[in-house]
Amino acid sequence: MNLVFLGPPGVGKGTQAAQVAREMGLAHVATGDILRAAVKEGTKTGLEAKGYMDAGKLVPDEVVNRLVRERLEKKDAEKGLLFDGYPRTGAQAASLDGTLKELGRRVEMVFDFQAPDGVLVERISGRRTCGKCQASYHVKFKASSKGDACEKCGGALVQRSDDRPETVKARLEVYRKDTAGVGEHYRKTGTYAAIDANRPIEAISADVLGRAKRLS
Ligand code: AMP
Repeated sequence: MNLVFLGPPGVGKGTQAAQVAREMGLAHVATGDILRAAVKEGTKTGLEAKGYMDAGKLVPDEVVNRLVRERLEKKDAEKGLLFDGYPRTGAQAASLDGTLKELGRRVEMVFDFQAPDGVLVERISGRRTCGKCQASYHVKFKASSKGDACEKCGGALVQRSDDRPETVKARLEVYRKDTAGVGEHYRKTGTYAAIDANRPIEAISADVLGRAKRLS
C-alpha cells in the first residue's frame, strides 16, 4: 500500500506519518528528512538544497524527484510507502504517479491534514527535533520525558533553523501558492481524504489509522 500525507508546515503530519508507517509496516519517506540529512552530510545535493530550505522555499522539483526515485530503489520500499511532505507541486505529483506506474503501483490514499494558521504557528514555534535521529517533539503538546534530550536516542533537541518565525511565514505562503493544489489533483482521482488536524494527536492517529486499515 502507498499513502501520501499532505498538509501545511506544522500541521503534525510528520508525527502522524511516523506512527502510521510503524503500525502499517510501511517505509516512511519524508523528503524534508532526506534533504536535512543531505545538508548535514554536505553532499552536492545538500549544498544545492540548503539555500532554498533556509529561505523557506521549495527545493527544485528535479532534485526532489530524483531523491525520491533513488529512495524507491531501496529494498524496504517493496513493503509499501508512506510519503510525508511529498509531492508538494503538480510536477512532483505527476512524477510520483509516473514512477509508481512504472513499478506497477499507485497511490492508494492521500490524507490532507488541515488546521487554521494560528494553530500551525503555535505548533511550529514549540517544535523541537532531535539533531541525531530526527524524532519530533513539542514543548507543550509532546514534550520529551528527558527534557532537552531525545527519549529515543539521547540526542540534543534543537529548533529547526527553518522553524524560526520569519521563515515560517515564507513556508506557509509557499504552501498556499504551490502545494494546496496538489490535494485537488488527488481529489479528482478519488483517493483523497481531508483530515481535521485541529484535534488531540491520539484522536487524529485513530482516525487516520482506521481509514488506512480499511484500505488494506
Ligand atoms: P519539511 O520537513 O517537510 O517541512 O521540509 C523542510 C524543507 O525542505 C521545505 O521547506 C523545503 O525547503 C524542503 N522540502 C521538503 N520536501 C520538499 C518537496 N517535496 N519539494 C520541495 N522542497 C521540499
